[in-house]
Amino acid sequence: MTHNNGDKNMADMQERALHMLETYFGYTSFRPAQEAPIASLLKDEDVVGIMPTGAGKSICFQIPALCKPGLTIVFSPLISLMKDQVDGLVDQNIPAALINSTLTQREFNKTMYDVRSGRIKILYIAPERLGSNFFCNVLRSLPIAQVIIDEAHCISEWGHDFRPSYRLIGDWLQDLPKRPVVGAFTATATKAVENDIKSLLGLGAANVYVTGFDRPNLSFSVIRTPKRMDYVVDYVRRHNHENGIIYCSTRKDVERVYENLTRAGIQTGYYHAGLSDDMRKDMQNKYAFDQLQVMVATNAFGMGIDKSNVRYVLHYQMPRNMESYYQEAGRAGRDGGKAECILLYSGQDVQVHKYLIEQTVDQSGGDPRSGEQRKLVELRKLQAMIDYCFSSTCLRKYMLSYFGESALWDHCDNCSSCQSRGNVVNVTKEAKAIFRAIIATEERYGASMISAIVRGERTDRIVRAGFDALPVFGYLSDVGETEIKGLIQQFLAAGYLRSSMGKYPVLSITAGAEEVLAGHKEVEEVRQDIVVSSRKSKGASSRSDGRSSKGGGLFEHLRQHRKQLAIEAGIPPYIVFPDTVLIDLANIRPTTLGEFGNIKGVGEAKLKKYGLSFLGAISTYKD
Ligand code: ADP
Repeated sequence: MTHNNGDKNMADMQERALHMLETYFGYTSFRPAQEAPIASLLKDEDVVGIMPTGAGKSICFQIPALCKPGLTIVFSPLISLMKDQVDGLVDQNIPAALINSTLTQREFNKTMYDVRSGRIKILYIAPERLGSNFFCNVLRSLPIAQVIIDEAHCISEWGHDFRPSYRLIGDWLQDLPKRPVVGAFTATATKAVENDIKSLLGLGAANVYVTGFDRPNLSFSVIRTPKRMDYVVDYVRRHNHENGIIYCSTRKDVERVYENLTRAGIQTGYYHAGLSDDMRKDMQNKYAFDQLQVMVATNAFGMGIDKSNVRYVLHYQMPRNMESYYQEAGRAGRDGGKAECILLYSGQDVQVHKYLIEQTVDQSGGDPRSGEQRKLVELRKLQAMIDYCFSSTCLRKYMLSYFGESALWDHCDNCSSCQSRGNVVNVTKEAKAIFRAIIATEERYGASMISAIVRGERTDRIVRAGFDALPVFGYLSDVGETEIKGLIQQFLAAGYLRSSMGKYPVLSITAGAEEVLAGHKEVEEVRQDIVVSSRKSKGASSRSDGRSSKGGGLFEHLRQHRKQLAIEAGIPPYIVFPDTVLIDLANIRPTTLGEFGNIKGVGEAKLKKYGLSFLGAISTYKD
């Protein structure tokens, strides 16, 4: 009997959860990946949720927070991130507040008063606050129903954003008079991080949910070009109504790209660790408020960006590993709308990263053997990143398999490899020459020497070693050095060659190369270094979110209208409505509040606040 009652209670809760979703967020259903973590938290079962950026983690704990009696506490690592989330919730009439070091004593007292009187349902807290006994005692007296640890990878030294203050949370949870249900959420999936989250937060028995890493609304491209600056300026110009991020490896490059874009008349910001706190805050705010079209940044521009309408992320250089790339590129298209991730590759990137890996590992001290070990791990990760840049098979499939998932497709038609499938060139002759040169020199040399031999360069080293007498010497004398090195990278990526790790990597051949030499196999290269056209052409046909195009000028008109409303309300435009809602408005052109309210992502509070104003903007718009 109890069992049936339990089932009925659960069904009631789920209905209530759906009702909350519709009322506050304007969505009619949960995403499949959200259902299980929400059901667990509603049943008071702990959760570890590993979900990629944009999967909708926040709703997984915000909805249970609204359904449960009592308070939900959310730990979040960055003040800007917290503020963004709370602004968004308050704008949807969800009673939320935050406590961090920026509050005055008066604001703190007022917030605590509101919390105590039950007026606040969701309270965001910076974990540093747990260092104060006084504050911990205040928390102990509150009716805490649920504790959420957002960006939970910050607890782990293996993650990329370790925060020592996250370590305070575990003990604090144990000391509470009644342990609330706990949910930890992150986008970082490695096993080491997951284990740390479980052990340090006492979540050994939690339900773990891992969502697939595929982001169908993102297209991925690699462009191999020595003219990166021209490409970037041209691209940004062609996308002048869209927001983007350009990541560079060094501060110097950030400033160079920034200057070039500014000179081209583009509203550009820049961001790196060398700027003052105030300057960084100012840049971030301007970008959030759409006062800047593009942000050029090092990877210091990271977690604090919750901006959902980033339509492209360009990498001016190749990052050092796939983990960083996926995370940075993943900041595009968080609203589920189409977005582009483009990586610009040049051969120098590899040298720079190798140098940096040597430097950081050499200087980090400690046991030299573990230093060597780490260096090898880093170099292996770098090689996987290079392989991505040279892969002639589906880039999204490659990426998923790197993260331990298998794709259900061979060709996604939404990445540069799949889109240039028509552009196949037979390079068997070049491959054979390179493989023969490697064998003839007994697999003792790297790409530079092999390239010099097949190109017929009579250097001192080559003459002294007698390599100018080899039959393959000068066999590819009409091919440029960059091209040969590019081919070698591709043969590595395709598994015909292997490379040793370390300072002076040495090439060797695999069974695949032997098959080619025996004439059993042809080698093909997909030429990727074509300029990938803008989404409006090829990408648009493969839209995976089912939405149609942006409704042309009306979309832009609504974007300007949103900007105005945002300035008046003092919140970033994407908090008023994400781009996806504007796209639907431009296509559907509602004329009544009822029609407006049916649009995905329009909740009751927003309908009331902004509905009439947007209807007005639509009705006065002339095509
Ligand atoms: P994450 O924190 O995982 O990066 P967010 O919580 O920011 O993701 O959500 C990403 C986007 O998806 C937001 O624009 C959010 O409003 C939207 N979203 C979340 N849940 C749903 C849903 N059930 N239906 C439609 N859109 C959703």
